[in-house]
Amino acid sequence: SLLPASPSPFQQKMLEFLTMARKKSHRLERLDQRHIWHPFTQMEEWERETPLVIERGKDNYLFDIDGNKYLDGGSSLWVNLHGHRKREIDRAVKRQLDRIAHSTLLGLGNAPSIELAARLVKIAPDGLSRVFYSDNGSTAVEVALKMAFQYWQQSRSRDAKKRTKFIAFTGAYHGDTFGAMSVGEIDIFVEKYRHLLFSAFRAPYPYCYRCPVQKSYPDCGIACIDRFEEIVKKHHREIGACIIEPMVQGAAGMIVSPPGFLKKVERICRRYKILLIADEVATGFGRTGRMFACEHEGIRPDFLCLAKGITGGYLPLAATLTTDKVYRNFLGRYDQYKAFFHGHTYTGNQLGCAAALANLDIFKNEKVLKRMAPKVRLFSKLLQGISALEQVGDVRHIGLIAGIELVKERNKKTPYPPGKRIGKEVCTAALEEGLIIRSIGDVIILMPPLSIKESELKGMVTVVRRCIETVTHG
Ligand code: PMP
Repeated sequence: SLLPASPSPFQQKMLEFLTMARKKSHRLERLDQRHIWHPFTQMEEWERETPLVIERGKDNYLFDIDGNKYLDGGSSLWVNLHGHRKREIDRAVKRQLDRIAHSTLLGLGNAPSIELAARLVKIAPDGLSRVFYSDNGSTAVEVALKMAFQYWQQSRSRDAKKRTKFIAFTGAYHGDTFGAMSVGEIDIFVEKYRHLLFSAFRAPYPYCYRCPVQKSYPDCGIACIDRFEEIVKKHHREIGACIIEPMVQGAAGMIVSPPGFLKKVERICRRYKILLIADEVATGFGRTGRMFACEHEGIRPDFLCLAKGITGGYLPLAATLTTDKVYRNFLGRYDQYKAFFHGHTYTGNQLGCAAALANLDIFKNEKVLKRMAPKVRLFSKLLQGISALEQVGDVRHIGLIAGIELVKERNKKTPYPPGKRIGKEVCTAALEEGLIIRSIGDVIILMPPLSIKESELKGMVTVVRRCIETVTHG
């Protein structure tokens, strides 16, 4: 052995230190397994495996309790934008902490929430002038659904009151609360609650790889929109609002809609006076290469739901923006009870709003969107290499978001049996190479922070490629 027979005092000390550190980690892992119920997790599997426990973060990396370093390839579930411990956001939160952490928005205003509302209105698509705060993506959606519903109920016209239904899309995901689940359509998430959910009209989302109308883009002329139009034409008197994830459906496996689809949805909604809710919980704040995905097709929704990246990935904060027209419909004498009777305890939380203001400053000061453009081009090029792999059926990509759909047989687009957990296997292999990513079924999701460097982007795609090859051929 290269080691001396007996360790030096220094080596002895190091060994003791490492043993102590490992013992501490072990304790946390055990306590996690004993007491925490993790989201979207089969806990039987979790209890069998050693959990990865994160201790700190820096830039685009996470560090576990043993000091191992990982690239945060999923932006800590699609929230982080400028890296961890971003100096400007750290400072803003600390500065706010020296003033106050929280006071309620029920009956009181607070400075950061006011400043932030004005800033959000400035950057949001035209026409959105009112900001209603909440604290996560599901509540941002819930607020939009309830506002849209109440809007029609408060109309003077008897006919308008009949607009009590929503139209949504196949494969949609809008969150885990009951309203959000009702407009969502990922069976394994919502099926068990079916009896408790309200029904919604459902139109096909343009999942071009598995086309819902068996055509292919661009020759199809976006024929799948016809189904949407048919439903709307027939039922518009009952439909109050349409909810959509603009440009890309996230949890469905990063399904990117072809150019023109979103605009058509907006036009049809306008024609039939249906309110349009844009759920930009995942796509907002630069992920798609624009500040908001709506900008890709210049649409002007009646509601914009924001969360996740709003604080740069620091704190739970959400906002639902709407128009003056919707807002005014809720005005009246107190005893007309037209107010929006809805609100969450931490609504407009100062720490969250301070982080969000710092986030918006970073976009401006560091020209984040402009600096992202070459990275998006590089990402696209790197992904082309992956799409050539035999087990890769489809690679979908927009901005710094990608979904890589793995298939057993490429020419027949045959999926792997779900029990094989191919997607998960790839992510586990990536973890061993220092990359944290997640899969949705057999779609590998890549959504790095906007601050990712070109070299890190290359490294990430190389690891993903290698892991796909190893796992699918193994
Ligand atoms: N809408 C979309 C489009 C989402 O992707 C998500 C979360 N991934 C949500 C809503 C729900 O957000 P939250 O998990 O913060 O409730």
